[in-house]
Amino acid sequence: MKARLLSDPVEAARWLRQGRLVAFPTETVYGLGADAADERAVAAVYTAKGRPLDNPLILHVAEVGDAQAVAVWNERALELARRFWPGPLTLVLPARPGVPAAIRAGKPTVAVRCPDHDLARAFLAAAGRPVPAPSANRSGRPSPTTAAAVLEELGDRIDAVLDGGPCRMGVESTVVDASGARLRLLRLGATPAEDLGLEPRADPDVEGLSPGTRHRHYAPSIPVHVVDDVEAGLRSHPDAAVLCGASAAARLGLRPGPAVCVLPDDPAGRAAGLFDALRRLERSGRACIVAPRLEPAGLDAATADRLRRASSGTRMDP
Ligand code: AMP
Ligand code: MG
Repeated sequence: MKARLLSDPVEAARWLRQGRLVAFPTETVYGLGADAADERAVAAVYTAKGRPLDNPLILHVAEVGDAQAVAVWNERALELARRFWPGPLTLVLPARPGVPAAIRAGKPTVAVRCPDHDLARAFLAAAGRPVPAPSANRSGRPSPTTAAAVLEELGDRIDAVLDGGPCRMGVESTVVDASGARLRLLRLGATPAEDLGLEPRADPDVEGLSPGTRHRHYAPSIPVHVVDDVEAGLRSHPDAAVLCGASAAARLGLRPGPAVCVLPDDPAGRAAGLFDALRRLERSGRACIVAPRLEPAGLDAATADRLRRASSGTRMDP
């Protein structure tokens, strides 16, 4: 493991400007940053993650105004930024000339976001230009919500992690395409779709608009079974580790342990604990993970989406 743990955002930004890969915290998950102007460093982000080259990166900015230089804004997008930034909303807009093709995965658009996280913004300000950063996990795996999880994922492939402690929200940003006449939801996330006046469902054309969404995502190393009834799920999978809410755990007499993760019963607590729970349970030595199906509304729609994707390739039973 060669990655250094850093606590100073200015030092972390200096490392970035020297062409190194630096992971940093945000309110959603940890991102893996590179200097946008360094082609080799941007290419190294894709290599370190094993990320398919058709999956573009989000440019992170310290201030709303910093996004003017990279994207062409319209009135509705400005309104969204005024209302939701800093925060977990990513806007896809036409790219201005000069945004490197590798960041856009060759698309004419670019994704931008201003995180609601003081350490992240200090790092981004010191970097001096927007920082392209995907989540700091190996491609296809759960996103990291702690510096330790980044080290576990990429410790031998990146240079440094700016340690900001656990991420407050725990699921990634909501991604909307704001470039056209109609706002389109590309990824459910930490800003509820309903707050944007949208249904909590990805746009029917999402795979064409956001090719990266086709790929496998968020999956731990053992299968995940999303079930309507945890008790029945455990009968069908007696060797399963279990992820459930506090009230279900109390009802079933389940106590937290290496094979049992109990999350709070509220949507924010579920979202914040999800990825860390998947990481802990994949180390339980059990054959699979049983987790409850959530009502896909509000913030739970994002958590339900991550669980569904984590389980894809796994039969949805019972
Ligand atoms: P992550 O790996 O969590 O950073 O994912 C970034 C998300 O933003 C992925 O779903 C990408 O496909 C999406 N994204 C980034 N840039 C664009 C873009 N220009 N057009 C559409 N989707 C994008
Ligand atoms: Mg990701």
